[in-house]
Amino acid sequence: MKKKIRVGLDFDGVIAYNPFRLVRAPWAFLKNRFLGVKKLSFFYPKNRFEKMIWIMMHDSSIFPAKGAKFLRELVNEDLVEAHLISGRYSFLDCQLYTWLERFGLRKIFRSININEQDRQPHLFKEAVIKKLGVEFFIEDNWDIVDYLDGRSKAEIYWIYNIIDRFRPYERKFPYLEKALRSITGSKSS
Ligand SMILES: [Mg+2]
Repeated sequence: MKKKIRVGLDFDGVIAYNPFRLVRAPWAFLKNRFLGVKKLSFFYPKNRFEKMIWIMMHDSSIFPAKGAKFLRELVNEDLVEAHLISGRYSFLDCQLYTWLERFGLRKIFRSININEQDRQPHLFKEAVIKKLGVEFFIEDNWDIVDYLDGRSKAEIYWIYNIIDRFRPYERKFPYLEKALRSITGSKSS
């Protein structure tokens, strides 16, 4: 039997398409350029109001990304072993499971790893990637890609968006399906 390819996948922006992700790129730029924040750190909503806004941003109009269906096929054909590694904070857990159920995607994952201790997302992902020993990890946030690249044996695949598409990176793809086809060496039909 052929060995399955072990793939880790981020949730927001990789499995789920969320138009709000476009808001994040200018914010990261602004933070770095004008506020002089060089150290990688992510916003954590502290009070109920901030959490409510955060939940709305993560819940409104998110759909399975182009390639979610293809991922299911690869899993069903025993070509890929998929692990979900989401940096989402714990108060969003429930929504993540509901969403996966709604689109019939929960069972395709061998493991679902969520950031229960609300660690910084890049550190959480680094730890899980190492623990699971995934060969590939697919991520949409450039700062996280940049951080993870070279820190483990996993090859980091980047899903870019229209704002940062000119950034040079060896393994960059416009959406999930293209990344999966590159990983599995399957041509588009
Ligand atoms: Mg993401």
